[in-house]
Amino acid sequence: MNQEIPYKIYLSEDEIPKQWYNLRADMKNKPAPLLNPGTLKPLTAEELAPIFCEELIAQELDETTPYIDIPTEIRDFYKMYRPAPLVRAYYLEKALGTPAKIYYKFEGNNTSGSHKLNSAIAQAYYAKKQGLKGVTTETGAGQWGTALSMACAYFDLDCKVYMVKVSYEQKPFRREVMRTYGANVTPSPSMDTEVGRKILEAHPGTTGSLGCAISEAVEVATHNEGYRYVLGSVLNQVLLHQSVIGLEAKAALDKYGISPDIIIGCAGGGSNLGGLIAPFMGEKLRGEKDYRFIAVEPASCPSFTRGKFAYDFCDTGMICPLAKMYTLGSGFIPSANHAGGLRFHGMSSTLSQLYHDGYMEARAVEQTSVFEAAEFFARAEGILPAPESSHAIRAAIDEAVKCKETGEEKTILFGLTGTGYFDMIAYEKFHDGNMTDYIPTDADLQVGFDGIPKFPGNEF
Ligand SMILES: *Cc1c(COP(=O)(O)O)cnc(C)c1O
Repeated sequence: MNQEIPYKIYLSEDEIPKQWYNLRADMKNKPAPLLNPGTLKPLTAEELAPIFCEELIAQELDETTPYIDIPTEIRDFYKMYRPAPLVRAYYLEKALGTPAKIYYKFEGNNTSGSHKLNSAIAQAYYAKKQGLKGVTTETGAGQWGTALSMACAYFDLDCKVYMVKVSYEQKPFRREVMRTYGANVTPSPSMDTEVGRKILEAHPGTTGSLGCAISEAVEVATHNEGYRYVLGSVLNQVLLHQSVIGLEAKAALDKYGISPDIIIGCAGGGSNLGGLIAPFMGEKLRGEKDYRFIAVEPASCPSFTRGKFAYDFCDTGMICPLAKMYTLGSGFIPSANHAGGLRFHGMSSTLSQLYHDGYMEARAVEQTSVFEAAEFFARAEGILPAPESSHAIRAAIDEAVKCKETGEEKTILFGLTGTGYFDMIAYEKFHDGNMTDYIPTDADLQVGFDGIPKFPGNEF
């Protein structure tokens, strides 16, 4: 191995970012504001206050401040697992025989196994600062619930997690990790909430969805004194916190004067991708530099590539604010694919606007080809990747193979968001040849689109 660039580019503890970067400050076309579903007017901080923590609302609504200080308490927690390594994928390059130079930012380096801890600790901190008793949330694959449980344990907050039923059943060990950190975990939809009971009545035997679980968690937060709801993706505040991923990646690359040509991330609600690309996209928006950005989503839940850009509910129960985003409709329940973290029907409104304005590309990939990439990567680089992350691996490999065909030495950066130890049932299905590649038909999607609210200005 002829290494001018080390296999891992390390930053020191002192180089953990001191500020988050708010990408919206550099966007000419700002993401559309959240709307009150009753009045169809932009939501004010006062209206959001019963649902979210105060400081997080301020961050949510702030589209002008480019840099926001990271409180010392949060930076102290970040030191437990950050800076996250930036790896030059020499072994993967060799296995592919590509002239491309591949880098990945590895965020699975903590017990929760994903990047979600970056925002969980920030949200728990602001809840604590506000003097709250606890927080409620949903979790799909379980990574967000685990991250939030860890963060709540650190700040001594109560944590109530509504876990999508299919994951609750497929991943009992994930649930036990959450309970180890003191969280209360309920399979969703449940009979505990009004909205859960309604959903169960309408869809008996449903395995749930993130949208259902969000509705339940919001209901519990707004009906219990001293509780607020926190969300692990989609929102602007989450993208803000996740900017540590991109800021660190860029600092590491800058040390060696490396500039990526292509930046790739998987996209569920858009938080890791939004965080990874943030400082690079900022340069592109300011006209300083150009990069190609690629969002990768499952073909079974294709929000960007087949969704509509419209105002829609973030949850199945239709109790949350309306967000303008690429959406499959809040009633869309994707087939039970194995990338639980990518099963959300919508997408961050910031990324949706950027995609709509042509700053970013998107592609959808099929499950089996994702697991082929995951296995190839595991054998080459050693890390056993999460199914979600493996969507990015699939696209990175595809781009590197293209370089092999054309002889181009492109530099590719991708986000390796987490590890897949709790996804071994999915790996087992893949190894046994029992994995399916269900792709929704246009008629399937139409059912979801029919549920998108119709009002003047929301044509799609
Ligand atoms: C949640 C999750 C994702 C997708 O969420 P985004 O908000 O789109 O980043 C990706 N990878 C892993 C490992 C996750 O846990």
